[in-house]
Amino acid sequence: MFRRTPFILLGSSIFILFLAWSKPALYSQDKFNLLGFSSPQKEARKGLKVFISADIEGIAGVISSSQTAPTGEEYAKAKDWMSNEVLAAIEGAKAAGAVEFIVADSHGSMQNLLPEKFGLDTKLVRGWARPLGMMQGIDNSFDAVMFIGYHAQAGTRDAVLAHTITGTIYNLRVNGITQLEASLNALVAGYYGIPVIMISGDQAVAEEATKLLGRIEVAVVKRGVSGSVITLPPQAACQLIREKAENAVKHLKDFKPYKIQPPYKFEIDFVSAAIAEVVSWIPDIRREGNRTVSYTDGDLLKIMPLLRIITRFINQGN
Ligand SMILES: [Zn+2]
Repeated sequence: MFRRTPFILLGSSIFILFLAWSKPALYSQDKFNLLGFSSPQKEARKGLKVFISADIEGIAGVISSSQTAPTGEEYAKAKDWMSNEVLAAIEGAKAAGAVEFIVADSHGSMQNLLPEKFGLDTKLVRGWARPLGMMQGIDNSFDAVMFIGYHAQAGTRDAVLAHTITGTIYNLRVNGITQLEASLNALVAGYYGIPVIMISGDQAVAEEATKLLGRIEVAVVKRGVSGSVITLPPQAACQLIREKAENAVKHLKDFKPYKIQPPYKFEIDFVSAAIAEVVSWIPDIRREGNRTVSYTDGDLLKIMPLLRIITRFINQGN
C-alpha cells in the first residue's frame, strides 16, 4: 500500500496537468455543443425536434408514494412504466416526422427514467439543480413540447396525487390566474415561442390544462374516484400515448404557444404563515397576507429560478 503511493501521486499529477491543459478548450466552447446537444437550426434539420418533460404522478398505475418515492415498494416498477410512456410518446412523434428528442426527467431526484431504454435520437436531462426546473434543456431550437405523466394542481377533487410543485403550496397564481405545473411549464415553452401539443396524465390534469392552454392533445390514462383510482394498465396507456403523440405532431400547426401578457405577478399562498414569513425575506418578494407572498417581474427567465429556490430550498419539497 505504502509503496504504491508515489505511483498514485505521479498518476494524479499527470491527471491534474491534463485537466489544466484541457480546461481552456473545455470552457472556450458551448458545453452543450461538446456533448452534441446542439442540432442544426430548424430549417436545416431533416425533421422535427421535440422537448418532453416527464413527471411520475400522472403515469398509469401510479397512485401513491409506494410508486413515487425512491423508498417505495413499487418505485422500481414505476420507473419502468414512466420510461415506457415517454418512449411511447417518442415513437408516436417519430411516426409523424419527429427526429430528435430531449427529455427532462422531472420528478423528485430527477433520476427516474432508465437511460438504457432510450435510442440515439434522444438525450436526457437528469439530476438537480436546474434554473428552469421541469423545462431544463429547452431553447428556441424545438418545434414542439409534450408533457408526460403530469398531474393536477393542488386541491383539485378527484385528482391523482395533485399538487403544485411542493406539498406546501396551496395556490399559485400568475396575474390572477391559478396555475398548475403544466401551465407554468407551458409559459416557459411559450417564452421560446414553442407550443405544448400534448399532455398525458389523469382526467383532472387533462381538464385543467385544456382550460388554460386551449387546444392540446390529451392522453387520459387514469381517473381519480374519491380516494381511489381507475387506471389503464401500462401497455394500454402506452398505446394511447403513442396514438395521441402521433396525432399531435401531425397537427402541429393547430397549436399555439401559451403566453400571459407581462409583467408577471406571481402570487403564492402557502399552507402555513411560517413559510410565507421566510420566503418574504428574499429581496423584492412582498408579503401580501398571512400565508401569501408575491413577486412581479417582466422577465420570466428571472422568475423561474427564483421559484425553484423558494420551492426546493426553502420548502424542502419536490
Ligand atoms: Zn412529480
